[in-house]
Amino acid sequence: MREIKISDNISYIEATEEPLSADIGIIRSGNELFLYDVGRGESNIASLNGEYNVVLSHFHPDHTGNLGSIKCKGLYVSKETYKHVSERCNASESIIVEDGMGIGNISIFPIPSSHAKGCLGVMVDDRYAFVGDALYGRVRAGYYTYNVQFLKEEIEVLKALKAEYLLVSHYKGMVADKSRIIERLSRIYEMRDKNSSEIRADFDWID
Ligand SMILES: [Zn+2]
Repeated sequence: MREIKISDNISYIEATEEPLSADIGIIRSGNELFLYDVGRGESNIASLNGEYNVVLSHFHPDHTGNLGSIKCKGLYVSKETYKHVSERCNASESIIVEDGMGIGNISIFPIPSSHAKGCLGVMVDDRYAFVGDALYGRVRAGYYTYNVQFLKEEIEVLKALKAEYLLVSHYKGMVADKSRIIERLSRIYEMRDKNSSEIRADFDWID
């Protein structure tokens, strides 16, 4: 699988459709290597034969499927993700991230999201932040469905983030301008109706 470089400390293995597998972020932090998600399908991790610290964006199988096949030193997950993956994990240490934490040039932080419970992001060098699938709504009956409260909190988290660029799973090239994303998500937020806790949009932030 192709490894694509984003900066001196960041590269990634591209997402695939068959099997459905998310992008795998590879992050250098001092002498340590971190993976952001592990994808699904052996071929996507053929080049990953070292020992890694692993951060999982959320529990969905296209992001976590290969967990048992990676040599994992430390696993960084939300409580919700841990519930789904703990049986498949061979990590020597599991760290539940609740409020966010910094390790060298990276910081791991929770992202309120309509997509899944327990989303985590990773910011690198204060410039790039992996966000997994957190920006996506849930697709329901042909609409993108967002929870009003989560979307509000998500926009606040993104605004407060130092990073200028977001690295988005399943998004070609991964790199997206944070300001453009905030603008798009805010437009969706403006569509809320005070009688409903959900917003049904016929577009998501990419369009
Ligand atoms: Zn997902």
